[in-house]
Order: sequence, then structure tokens, then C-alpha cells
Amino acid sequence: MTVLASLHPLALIAASVADDVETLVPLNITPHDFAFRPSDIRRLQAADIILWAGIESEPYLERFVQRWPDKVWIDISEGHASEGGDHNHDGHWWLSPEMAIRAQQRLTQALGANSTFEDEVREQLRHSHQQLAPLSERGFFVFHQAYDHWVEYFDLNQLGSFTLSPEQKPGLRSLNQMRSQLARGDVTCVFTEPQFSPALVASVTRGLDIRLGELDPLGVHISVTKDGYAEFIRDLTQRFVHCLADSD
Ligand SMILES: [Zn+2]
Repeated sequence: MTVLASLHPLALIAASVADDVETLVPLNITPHDFAFRPSDIRRLQAADIILWAGIESEPYLERFVQRWPDKVWIDISEGHASEGGDHNHDGHWWLSPEMAIRAQQRLTQALGANSTFEDEVREQLRHSHQQLAPLSERGFFVFHQAYDHWVEYFDLNQLGSFTLSPEQKPGLRSLNQMRSQLARGDVTCVFTEPQFSPALVASVTRGLDIRLGELDPLGVHISVTKDGYAEFIRDLTQRFVHCLADSD
């Protein structure tokens, strides 16, 4: 069976149990600015199982779900309302380890396979908890609002984001507000992202004693292997630790 993941981080999840995983959205493009090409439609058509992030995150796939109901569509956002976490509608669902584990279980079932994914991910999550728990008071800003599930899961102290969505640049007013909040001194770290220009972040933090880190919500530098998702969590944990912890 051919498995297609819509986004790179979903390919990391799928590769834990499927041998050949294709990815729809190219690595250098985010779901915020993806536009369909005719060749993408052919790739969708050729897939038996499609792991995707749901209508809110990937509206460009909605009409294909209706067109090809016989394919197995595994929506990682499915069932989030029943978790009592309905307030959290961040569309970057793969940053919720619980949602990732459940989607992977549905894929494993669809393939009729067995998998040790959950045990391996929970083992990594235990390490991540140990490293992040002492830093839960440290304030930080992120570039765009992509980490709500992660922040909630690890109980971290995110104080704000530069923009809700990367294609909307913040106005002068909100930049000034942000700068005064940063100047008050309760922000340890500001995280940029590789896909977006750090010039904005540099100008807002200029002259302030704030560390800069980099987070990648898509994990583009993590290879699609069996352990890719656990590695993604390990890497993201390190990036938080590196920027939030005291350096000696
Ligand atoms: Zn995003």
C-alpha cells in the first residue's frame, strides 16, 4: 500500500511503520503558503493511505477527501475535541505527542502492522519532561503561533508570538508593544524559524539582553526514518533547553 503524508512532520510519524512514505508538500514550503500543482493531484491519486492535518490546517485537501472517499484518510486532528483540550485549536497538530501517537495507531491498523512507536516516543517524552520541567518558569517568545500543543504538553511559559501566521507581518504598534514587554526583562529567549527572515526579530530585540534560538515546527532537517518523530521531539527539546537554560 502506498502511504502519502501531506507534510514532512507527518512523514516522520508515518515512516515509523510504513516503508516508503511520500510527502506531498515540498520541504521548503509551509502549509501556510502551499499551492497545488497538477502533479500533486496525480500523487494523491496514486496513494492508498493519506496522513494529513485536517481541514483547518490543510484546506487544499478538503475537495480530494470528498472526491476519493475510498482512500484511507487519516486526519491527525481527529478526535481532539473529546480530549477536553477543545480550547487549543493550533493547527500544528503533530506538535501534540498524544495526537501523533493516536494517528500513528490508526495508520498501523490500516496497514495491518505492528509497531513499537508509542513505547519509543513515550521513552523520549520522559527524557524531554525531565529536561524541560526545571525550565517551566522561563519566559519566551516564538516567531509564529505554532507551538501551543507543545507548550501545553510540557507546561512551558510562552509569553507571546510575533505573528499568528507567518504570512501576516506584525504592525508597528504590536512590534512596539512587544519591545516593551521584552524590555521588562521577563523574557529569556526569543525563537526565530528557519523559513522566515530573522531581521524582524533582530530589530525588536536589538540592545536587549535576550537570547535568540531557532525552532523549526516542521522539522525539515530531521530525516524520514523509523525513529524520525522521536528524533524530532529530542531535537526540539534540545533547542528549548539550549535557549532557556543558564549557560555556563
Ligand atoms: Zn505554521
